Amino acid sequence: CGIVGAVSTRNIVPILVQGLQRLEYRGYDSCGVAVHEASLGRQPTGGLRRARSTARVAELLEQVAHDELQGATGIAHTRWATHGAPAVHNAHPHFSHGCGAAPADTARAGRVALVHNGIIENHEELRAQLQARGYVFSSQTDTEVIAHLVDSLYDGDLFQAVRAATTELRGAFAIAVIHKDEPHRVVGARAGSPLVLGVGEGENFLASDAMALAGVTDQIVYLEEGDLVDLQLGRYWITGPDGQPLAAGSRPVRTVH
Ligand code: GLU
Repeated sequence: CGIVGAVSTRNIVPILVQGLQRLEYRGYDSCGVAVHEASLGRQPTGGLRRARSTARVAELLEQVAHDELQGATGIAHTRWATHGAPAVHNAHPHFSHGCGAAPADTARAGRVALVHNGIIENHEELRAQLQARGYVFSSQTDTEVIAHLVDSLYDGDLFQAVRAATTELRGAFAIAVIHKDEPHRVVGARAGSPLVLGVGEGENFLASDAMALAGVTDQIVYLEEGDLVDLQLGRYWITGPDGQPLAAGSRPVRTVH
C-alpha cells in the first residue's frame, strides 16, 4: 500500500516511520521497517534488522524506539493484504536469508529485505521454482517470492539482481530493496504502482507518493512505468527496464510545494 525508503548518513528511522504516518490515510492492516545497521557506521558488524506490527504506525514508532532500531539506509511499508492474512509474519519488509531453514532470530536474519505494493500474478509458479532450489518461505504473501528471487539472482550487485528479478515478474509492483552486503544502497522498480524519488542533500529517498516525503525534501522525480532506480549516497541512477541509463533530463527533478 505505502512505501518509503532512504539512503542517508543520519538515522532515517524517524523519517521512514513519519513517512508511513503520512500515508496512513490510505488504510493498511500492518506496517514495518527494515534498516541496515552498519550504514550508520556505529556498528560495522551490523546487518539487516526489521520491526513489524499489526498495530498502528504510532506503535511501530514506539517499538523501534524501544528496540533501538537505527540505520542510515532503510525501507518501510504499510500493507493492505492481497495474498496472506493480515499478520506480523505476512507484514513487510520480507527477508530472504538464502536457501535452507529459517534462522531463529527472524528480526536480524536477512540477506535481502524488500517491500512491495501491488500483486505478483505468477507468485505460485515462482514459489514452486524457488522451493525446488531450497528456499524456505515464512509467509503466505506473493511478495516473499520477490525477496527470494532477488537473493537467488544476487552476484554482488543489487541493482542487477533486482533488474533481473523484475523480468520474471508478472503483475503490478512498486518495490524497494536493500542488501546486507551493500549498506548504502536502495534499489527501486515500478511497474503498475507509483514510485517517486526524493532528492536531498547528500541523501536520497524513495516513496510511493511524494506526500510521504513532505518536510524531508521538495525535490521530486516521478518515475515512469518500467523505470528502475539505484539510490546511493548523494547520487542516483534511473534506468529503463533493460538497465540502460535514461537520457539526461528525461525524468526531471520537480519542485513540489
Ligand atoms: N500483495 C502484497 C501483500 O499482500 C502487497 C500488498 C500491498 O500493496 O500492500 O502482501
